[in-house]
Amino acid sequence: MSSRPARFDRGHTDDLMSFLTAGPSPYHAVAAAAERLEKAGFRQVLETDAWDAATSPAAASGTGGRYVLRGGAIIAWYVPEGAQAHTPFRIVGAHTDSPNLRVKPLPDTGSYGWRQIAVEVYGGTLLNTWLDRDLGLAGRLSLRDGSHRLVNVDRPLLRVPQLAVHLDRSVNTDGLKLDRQRHMQPIWGLGDVEEGDLIRFLEQEAGIDEGEVTGWDLMVHAIEAPAYLGRDRELLAGPRMDNLISVHAGTAALAAVAAADGDLPFIPVLAAFDHEENGSQSDTGADGPLLGSVLERTVFARGGTFEDRARAFAGTICLSSDTGHAVHPNYGERHDPTHHPRANGGPILKVNVNQRYATDGSGRAVFAAACEKAGVPWQTFVSNNAMPCGTTIGPITAARHGIQTVDIGVAILSMHSARELCGADDPYLLANALVSFLTV
Ligand code: ZN
Repeated sequence: MSSRPARFDRGHTDDLMSFLTAGPSPYHAVAAAAERLEKAGFRQVLETDAWDAATSPAAASGTGGRYVLRGGAIIAWYVPEGAQAHTPFRIVGAHTDSPNLRVKPLPDTGSYGWRQIAVEVYGGTLLNTWLDRDLGLAGRLSLRDGSHRLVNVDRPLLRVPQLAVHLDRSVNTDGLKLDRQRHMQPIWGLGDVEEGDLIRFLEQEAGIDEGEVTGWDLMVHAIEAPAYLGRDRELLAGPRMDNLISVHAGTAALAAVAAADGDLPFIPVLAAFDHEENGSQSDTGADGPLLGSVLERTVFARGGTFEDRARAFAGTICLSSDTGHAVHPNYGERHDPTHHPRANGGPILKVNVNQRYATDGSGRAVFAAACEKAGVPWQTFVSNNAMPCGTTIGPITAARHGIQTVDIGVAILSMHSARELCGADDPYLLANALVSFLTV
């Protein structure tokens, strides 16, 4: 049996696999990021507290690591010794959400003796990838007293059954046609439909008294664990790689920079937003005020003025990290003829002159310098002119805050599938590039 040469640190990828499993919803993903940051000495700051040193025990004005959690978003930063009010930021941006199926307000439904859960389609998911998989259910429960609890049923609970080929004779020649309303409702048992059944079940799962849950944000996830794949185990298969690879790498990089406690001329930041998959317009999305509000408050907490805030933002750079498309062996013609990102070829720089990506030549030079310093190979991605280009939080961050932004990421296959695929080395290479960016 051949074993894979130990070219890169498997520890990072092993930890990523735990992170993917721990993050079936954006709420779980930010909790997993916060747990890692706490271990690295970061402390949570509440947005509702005063942030000046005199009044807040959290002392957001002081040196060290802090983070803010809001719903499925996290903003974390590390203030080095000697930071001034006008010290600029170096930001790693990412998003915590992934396309999936989400529970409707009246979830209990069914037909012909099957109990089903009513779901909406979230983001641009590949619908067919949810068929015939063992699915779990996870998310946030909101209680009568105003508190929230996370719930994660991480065992086979649901299934969206595909129609048998005998009843759909042309499926293999004409393709699978799925109606988002009629064909995507998972089954979860047998018997009569009972109103309130799902929420009562989840109250039991979470150890909450019956009737206490009055709100919920719940979503379906594929429960199969991430796995190394391939002849030499050089690939990684798993859920939510778009974009928990970046959230994980950004968290690891920020923790590493804090541990090194170097003399930095900027304040390293991780900004991981929710709702990227449907356009980022929410109070926890990149098109909301969250990042700007947090960064401004850190400036003012250090005694800064509006002038200091303007100076800090003008000197700030953001690396917006999100997944991109690796060249597909069976569909090479869909890619640009000369730009072919490869798995394990290192992180990709994403370019689109129409500003679907925020990268320009100056940003390219910033990324090139970070990779060069880290000894990390990197590649470029640009769309085939005949294909519409995707987008991400990069252009939004650039436009909303006036911050120089560079779009980068990891090249994967099967983007927006319930189970995606990447090179097993690329997440580690990305993390190394991010550490370099946050310390250059
Ligand atoms: Zn993404």
